Amino acid sequence: MMKEETEFISFFKPCIGDEEIADVTECLRSGWLTTGKFAKQFEADFASYMGAEFAVAVNSCTAALHLALEAVGLGEGDLVLVPTYTFAATAEVVRYFNATPVLVDSRMDDFNMDMGKARETILRVASNEKVAGVPEGHNGFKAMIPVHFAGQAVDVKRCADLCSEFGLKLIEDCAHCCPARYLDADGSWKTVGSSADIACYSFYANKTITTGEGGMALTNNEQWADRMRVMSLHGISKDAWKRFSKEGSWYYEITSPGYKYNMSDVAAAIGVNQLKKSDSFHAARKRIAAEFTERLSGIPGIVLPVEREDVEHSWHLYIIRIEENICGISRNAFIEKLKNAGIGSSVHYMPLHMHPYYAGKYGYEPDSFPVAKSLYQGAVSLPIYPGLSDQAIDKTCREIRKLTRGS
Ligand SMILES: *Cc1c(COP(=O)(O)O)cnc(C)c1O
Repeated sequence: MMKEETEFISFFKPCIGDEEIADVTECLRSGWLTTGKFAKQFEADFASYMGAEFAVAVNSCTAALHLALEAVGLGEGDLVLVPTYTFAATAEVVRYFNATPVLVDSRMDDFNMDMGKARETILRVASNEKVAGVPEGHNGFKAMIPVHFAGQAVDVKRCADLCSEFGLKLIEDCAHCCPARYLDADGSWKTVGSSADIACYSFYANKTITTGEGGMALTNNEQWADRMRVMSLHGISKDAWKRFSKEGSWYYEITSPGYKYNMSDVAAAIGVNQLKKSDSFHAARKRIAAEFTERLSGIPGIVLPVEREDVEHSWHLYIIRIEENICGISRNAFIEKLKNAGIGSSVHYMPLHMHPYYAGKYGYEPDSFPVAKSLYQGAVSLPIYPGLSDQAIDKTCREIRKLTRGS
């Protein structure tokens, strides 16, 4: 008999070891805290891990998305396809340009943006039909920002086809994808993000690897990489981060009104060590997901996440869906009761079109995207991270069976 877990099982805990602490200490003792050797190391390691040519380390994925859109030339009045089922960041960066994020509904099976509906939206806008959220006098679609939701790739082939058919830039929100893979049309396994013009990753505290706060933009286009690097540091000349070092010079020129998005070495010292553990973290998440799937299957009214044949999921999130009419408990009551039993959980996400800003600004109704709305109403994210104990998994599964009369 396994010992009962008595401590509160938190929804997420980062996995920080002695290696991270040692390198952060080294960084602090070195006297160089801002962007420097650790950030450069992290960029090189991350690019090589993901198989991209250029990496720009920044202080969030949101910053990476903003820089990516700027680098590909997004402008005022442009339209960008964005899934409604995502976090705030994916759409807000489009608003920074006074451009319009045109929201798209999800697929029922994996929450991802429905590429068929994305195509329909483009065609309807092209034929001057009235489409919810599309303002008068726009410049047409310029880009798309798919999100590989929870760590499962979107339909990459259809996504690429859409982009080439309509000349869209492909900026991928890979915040959930360190690491994830997909089976390419040529029969080989590829890293999620490798098909993008620019792919953006997050190292926020609860992501698969973390730097506390942090992000990275990956691309194979040198010009975009240079532009993002310059714009991440006030739009001043290229190696501005070196200006206070031995090799640096006090002289610089401002070439554009840039932003302040560079990653500090304190953060990067955590990142280089987290990255080394990324594969073992991923293995742990896979094992936990498999365990949940085995132990929670067959409960009426609980829909489990499926890993499609053509993907390798990162398992950043493990999202079950509560069908209240079948299992007799509402999603909110389910979360409350789990919490009372000592288990943390969360909801990813309330779709963007249901938030006051997007509903008010673009006139969306909850039923504008019925699939996303229905996914949201049942969604519960269970705890999943390398430090989650077997006892915690056991207790979570037993409580869920109790709550849904599945015991
Ligand atoms: C976490 C997250 C982001 C933003 O990441 P930050 O590093 O916190 O800026 C963007 N998109 C999605 C889908 C996310 O989950």
